[in-house]
Amino acid sequence: MASERQITVGGVPIGGGAPVVVQTMTKTETANLAATMDQILKVAEAGADIVRVAVPREQDAEALRTIVERSPIPVIADIHFNHTLALKSIEAGAHCVRINPGNIGGPEKVGEVVELARARGVPLRVGVNSGSLPRHLRQLEYDNPVEALVTAALETVALMESLDFTDFKVSMKSTSVPNTIASNRMLAERIPYPLHLGITEAGTKWSGSLKSAVGLGTLLADGVGDTIRISLSTFHAEEEVKVAWEILKALKLRARGPDLIACPTCGRLQFDMDSVVAEVERRLEAYEDPIEVSVLGCAVNGIGEARHADFGITGAKDMGMIYSKGEPLKKVATEQLVDELFKEIDRYYAAGKRVQRDEAAAAEAREWLAAHEDDTQMTPERLAALEAAAAENDQEADAVLESMLAPASGVTLDEDVSPVAGRRFTRS
Ligand code: SF4
Repeated sequence: MASERQITVGGVPIGGGAPVVVQTMTKTETANLAATMDQILKVAEAGADIVRVAVPREQDAEALRTIVERSPIPVIADIHFNHTLALKSIEAGAHCVRINPGNIGGPEKVGEVVELARARGVPLRVGVNSGSLPRHLRQLEYDNPVEALVTAALETVALMESLDFTDFKVSMKSTSVPNTIASNRMLAERIPYPLHLGITEAGTKWSGSLKSAVGLGTLLADGVGDTIRISLSTFHAEEEVKVAWEILKALKLRARGPDLIACPTCGRLQFDMDSVVAEVERRLEAYEDPIEVSVLGCAVNGIGEARHADFGITGAKDMGMIYSKGEPLKKVATEQLVDELFKEIDRYYAAGKRVQRDEAAAAEAREWLAAHEDDTQMTPERLAALEAAAAENDQEADAVLESMLAPASGVTLDEDVSPVAGRRFTRS
């Protein structure tokens, strides 16, 4: 469930039903103003709602003042071990400060940070890390790491509440995807505060994106999580933002920019789709509208499942076709497919989002499509469509099959008379 409470970080609402907030962290030395601002502008352009900067030294806290002034998005100061830096960051105008009460030097120092945050109306992010749980939870961490994480988080929440402070969000970070899922599910049921989600040290762009998509995606699909950060081992923080958006877009939690649909390709592929898809994806980054663009590796299926796409291309050896909403637009040489696709997209926007159709060109494209379509082929798309139809219409057959498979029924499955004959259920 979404958190009950909402906080506001520099004007961005978090929790309480607000859209899931995308954040990332700069990877520059914070005091290097030019490099830090350059990265903040890049992540803001990529769609970060909020950015976090590390503040491990005095000069970083000093630089914060200018960073906060110049940043187009709210800035969170990330503090470990030194509560004085947290105080200085609040003085410098940080829109939020992240501390782990367990490593900031005891409840008194946490209290000092809370008092200044309260006075300045600055929210905090408080959290726990699986790698640095309090000493008294070490044995529990060994026996039950999920319970240990949740207990540590609840203790932190209790500390905040004992200080009569509720302007905070909570994070529990772990490198383990299953532990992140289990602990956040548990915590979401027990506290009303917004949750920040992330997988710590998730890894490279490839593995880290997958771990984050599985971990954060599972929680977000359950309605758990109010702000996310994808941690990737890359200097390019904007990559983290792009992955975060893909997760939110896949779950239809937020919309931003175009959606690219591409077939997985198979032995029927007739042109260099790898480079075509990469090029289409690259050029689509310049568009902000949530337009749907499809790339099909062959015309054997016709336009098939890409019928709903705003624009799409499919190709054969020398020629290809551009279509829109299931209707052919024009036939073009394969090497011009991408350029022509974007010309059509630009014409669509120039005409106030109306598809521009030339009837003669469309008729030529329809002919081309008819010549290349082959409805006798069992393509992955047709198999999927058949399976979906069978699943919908075959309830009766499924009921019979279920009764035959029930261990108590004493019936042995005879594949020859099975209502789903042809599928094997046993290995010979
Ligand atoms: S049959 Fe389907 S998966 Fe194979 S190339 Fe054609 S569109 Fe792509």
